[in-house]
Amino acid sequence: MRKPFAITLDPGSSLANHTGTWRTLRPEYVDRLPPCNGACPAGENIQGWLYHAESGEYEAAWRLLTQDNPLPAVMGRVCYHPCETSCNRASLDSAVGINSVERFLGDEAIRRGWRFDIPRTVSGRRILVVGAGPSGLSAAYHLARLGHAVEIHEAGPLAGGMMRFGIPKYRLPRVVLDAEVKRILDLGVVLKLNTKIKSIQEAMRLGRFDAAFLAVGAHIAKRAYIPAGSAAKVLDALSVLRSMEGKEAPLLGRCVVVYGGGNTAIDVARTAKRLGADEAVIVYRRTREKMPAHDFEVEEALQEGVLIKWLSTIKQASESSITVEKMKLDEKGFPQPTGELETLAADAVVLALGQDVDLSLLEGVPGLEVKDGVVQVGPNMMTGHAGIFAGGDMVPAERTVTVAVGHGKKAARHIDAWLKGGTYAKEKNHEAASFDKLNPWYYSDAPKSVRPVLDLVRRQSTFDEVVKGLDEANALYEARRCLSCGNCFECDNCYGVCPDNAVIKLGPGKRFQFNYDYCKGCGLCVAECPCGAIKMVPEEI
Ligand SMILES: Cc1cc2nc3c(=O)[nH]c(=O)nc-3n(C[C@H](O)[C@H](O)[C@H](O)COP(=O)(O)OP(=O)(O)OC[C@H]3O[C@@H](n4cnc5c(N)ncnc54)[C@H](O)[C@@H]3O)c2cc1C
Ligand code: SF4
Ligand code: SF4
Ligand code: SF4
Repeated sequence: MRKPFAITLDPGSSLANHTGTWRTLRPEYVDRLPPCNGACPAGENIQGWLYHAESGEYEAAWRLLTQDNPLPAVMGRVCYHPCETSCNRASLDSAVGINSVERFLGDEAIRRGWRFDIPRTVSGRRILVVGAGPSGLSAAYHLARLGHAVEIHEAGPLAGGMMRFGIPKYRLPRVVLDAEVKRILDLGVVLKLNTKIKSIQEAMRLGRFDAAFLAVGAHIAKRAYIPAGSAAKVLDALSVLRSMEGKEAPLLGRCVVVYGGGNTAIDVARTAKRLGADEAVIVYRRTREKMPAHDFEVEEALQEGVLIKWLSTIKQASESSITVEKMKLDEKGFPQPTGELETLAADAVVLALGQDVDLSLLEGVPGLEVKDGVVQVGPNMMTGHAGIFAGGDMVPAERTVTVAVGHGKKAARHIDAWLKGGTYAKEKNHEAASFDKLNPWYYSDAPKSVRPVLDLVRRQSTFDEVVKGLDEANALYEARRCLSCGNCFECDNCYGVCPDNAVIKLGPGKRFQFNYDYCKGCGLCVAECPCGAIKMVPEEI
């Protein structure tokens, strides 16, 4: 297959004369680790699935992608795509829209009803997964594919965790989430809803489970002490967002103040706007540069009319107003009070100050280490108690859906190995395919495709999805922007430029091989390979 954005040469026609013996260096085909793959917390083989997608082989692409991550349609909507931040193409024009192609594949799979293959082996081992958030679902999926009998016990009435009870519908429509959850359950995973585990050891004993994976998330809203009159309405962000899944939307009033600076604060403020608030104001004690919320989410919120009061803290709340104090940054960049006060109208104050983990199910379990409110795990995701593994928001890590999914996969592999009495060893990482390994001039300019966005009026008044997906033509185009960093994409350049006809073409999908009888080690193939898939190594003596 040829890449439309790569300029390729025709095969050379020089006469081959056995020059190989003069070499001091010889070329070798290599597979390097593309930076995108290295940056995906779910460990996806992005370059690999983009390679299928750019030939229009969408099902093959989806199947390769879901070997690592069972939730591509969800990911394509909520992942903060660190893969794109690391993409080599950003040094050329702009990063490949990996996340939008992933979403296209996920949506295509739902539309066409693609299903996972049912595992052929049955291990006879039983594993308890606690919590049906992204981490629990991912672990269940990978464990089921390894042939284990998996039961998920979920405290809530529906699966999804924070994907359902946190992330608003305008970012993740529930039909998408439902379809991807169902596909995992179709593998034979048993899901028990409204089943809160109070003691993990007792649950394991009663259910005769051989191992457990805990992924209970972080659901206890942090509070701040704000002197408030008895009539003041002070709520927490998680309760507000959770009640959006119920029959009745929460009553917040016309002026809503949100206290905090993370993505949750942004989600609540945008939700308040959609529920009809005239004013949704975020009060944050630091500056925009210090705000933990992602820039694009802040931007979207501002477009929808959310106001942000920087460098401010709430001093007091009453029935229909709050008092805020202005802050100023000290020499070290920390906010300090100024004593300057201001009154803002507020029918409700929503606290979005982060979440703690409810670890009560672990009470009395020997060997566990809890530090800073989260459970410590080893490199194999096992807690200090043999057979009890944990991941997602309840362990020390960045709190994102993708990290949670990655933990689920990693834990599943280690649980499987542990049950077999062994250890799981990750494949050794290949050498990195950094930008300097590429020949960027081979790739023509191809600006990134932009995802369509819902018009502003509907964004402010409905929960319709804001960011839309790419159509097939755009998804194909976007996949073809991939430079295939460090992995041969069969452009034929090495075959074409070799003056000694020392490159043997093995046929479509089989790549190439060197005929060292003829190769004199000139290194032209290395110099002309667009993607750094050949390297020179010292000649074996
Ligand atoms: C408002 C909000 C928006 C967010 N937006 C994004 C985003 O856009 N992108 C992103 O990557 N991340 C986002 N996050 C973070 C992300 O949602 C979490 O990091 C992720 O869901 C953590 O996954 P988890 O599986 O560890 O836990 P959770 O998703 O919290 O799931 C835990 C599950 O365990 C269940 N459970 C708890 N205790 C028990 C028990 N004792 N017995 C049985 N079940 C139990 C819970 O009911 C829940 O269903 C957001 C978070 C919030 C709060
Ligand atoms: S899950 Fe996120 S980081 Fe991984 S490929 Fe998808 S968008 Fe990129
Ligand atoms: S160009 Fe392709 S292979 Fe290279 S980092 Fe970007 S997405 Fe990955
Ligand atoms: S090794 Fe490089 S030059 Fe040769 S066919 Fe593959 S991508 Fe092209």
